[in-house]
Amino acid sequence: MENFLLTEDERNFRDEVRNVVKSIPHELIRDIESEKIKFPREFIDIITKNKIAGARFPEKYGGRAKGWVAEMSGIEEMGYLGFTLSCMYSLGSIVGEPINKYGTEEQKAEYIRGITSGQKYGAEAITEPSGGSDLFGMMHTRAERKGNKFILNGQKRFIVGGQGADFFVTYALTDSNAKPRSKGVSAFIIDRETPGLKVETIYGLMGNKGGGTARIIFKDAEVPEENILGELNGGYDIFNRMMIPERLTTAAGSVGVATAAMEIATKYSLNREAFGTKLVEHEGVNFKIAESMTAITSASSLVYTAARAAEELDKGRIQASSVRKLISMAKLYSTEAMWTSVNNAMQIMGGIGYTTVYPVERLLRDSRLGLIWTGTSEVMKLIIQHEYLREFRSEGYLSSKRNVELDALDFQLEEEKVFK
Ligand SMILES: Cc1cc2nc3c(=O)[nH]c(=O)nc-3n(C[C@H](O)[C@H](O)[C@H](O)COP(=O)(O)OP(=O)(O)OC[C@H]3O[C@@H](n4cnc5c(N)ncnc54)[C@H](O)[C@@H]3O)c2cc1C
Repeated sequence: MENFLLTEDERNFRDEVRNVVKSIPHELIRDIESEKIKFPREFIDIITKNKIAGARFPEKYGGRAKGWVAEMSGIEEMGYLGFTLSCMYSLGSIVGEPINKYGTEEQKAEYIRGITSGQKYGAEAITEPSGGSDLFGMMHTRAERKGNKFILNGQKRFIVGGQGADFFVTYALTDSNAKPRSKGVSAFIIDRETPGLKVETIYGLMGNKGGGTARIIFKDAEVPEENILGELNGGYDIFNRMMIPERLTTAAGSVGVATAAMEIATKYSLNREAFGTKLVEHEGVNFKIAESMTAITSASSLVYTAARAAEELDKGRIQASSVRKLISMAKLYSTEAMWTSVNNAMQIMGGIGYTTVYPVERLLRDSRLGLIWTGTSEVMKLIIQHEYLREFRSEGYLSSKRNVELDALDFQLEEEKVFK
């Protein structure tokens, strides 16, 4: 994010994260990539020792009470490490958010303190084999109350961090007759040691190695009733709140991934020669750099705007629907800008960019996931059009502005304005 947009405190936090990112051993990333390390617990130790994990949460639970902008400026830095580690860092923010907002004092003391201290690493188990985009429509996981427990049955898939997580934030149907179905869903915090919970790792991934992406199976899993998060059947609102960090962190991480790839390509183009001059002197090359940096800076500006909007939401000064629209725009735009920019970086580097001599090929494989997870690009567009049209149709939206239609030379030809 541009320095002048950040307060001194936000800048300091961003720089703190930048220094931690610099200190991460290169060997760790290489070991993750070669699948020597399946789940990098040492990374969690580093971020918790440096006190940057769960930085947005209250100091009472070991957090730093930072705002959304500070956290996202840090996550942009994390993107330099690739999506796996920036996602592992972000997961604390994602799973901690619903607990911080809807959890009991006991849940906060146990799980948020766990996130900030590194004692408890959390993952989100939302997607089911039957569907991620239409989650509520296709949800099969059920929770039935039995005495002072809930009995869960169902499956969740593609769960990043599943292999090493100590707990999961998950959603299950608690009222199958509710209409709409989203009103019959509850959120739960589920400890890894829960009887009836099984973690299976079965996915070979194109990129994002080392996240321990797993399938979670609940077979008569016994969850104590105190592990319900928020109200019974109140899962929909909790889900919507959780989507703030979920999508903002993907957007911010994408800015970092794209910037890292472009910096490698720019440096290469300043050194490599073709047709008697440096690559960077060819317009075909430097226009790619210019276009990519414009897209990345635009993405970062949108992340900044969306993060500021989330702060306004917390102060009760903006509608949740406006924030949802901006966050979806940030997620959509940043991930697409990342994909195009990393691809440009590879093109600028020619054949060597396609090899493992440089990490651009890894960043390209990581990038592709951005357009799919935490809500696909198509789902982001559905949300944006929905929220924009809601705003557009609201009273006073057009009437408060100039009627530009009247600037047309033949504005008065009403009989030509045919709609059917
Ligand atoms: C590596 C990886 C890690 C992941 N990590 C996690 C995690 O940690 N936790 C978690 O819960 N989930 C995770 N996910 C799941 C991810 O969020 C989902 O894969 C994603 O939301 C899409 O759901 P789906 O795969 O079921 O595709 P589907 O919902 O089946 O969609 C298939 C295609 O149809 C399109 N589509 C669907 N409906 C519409 C519509 N109405 N209009 C237009 N197009 C539509 C989609 O955009 C997509 O292109 C992960 C996925 C992967 C691959």
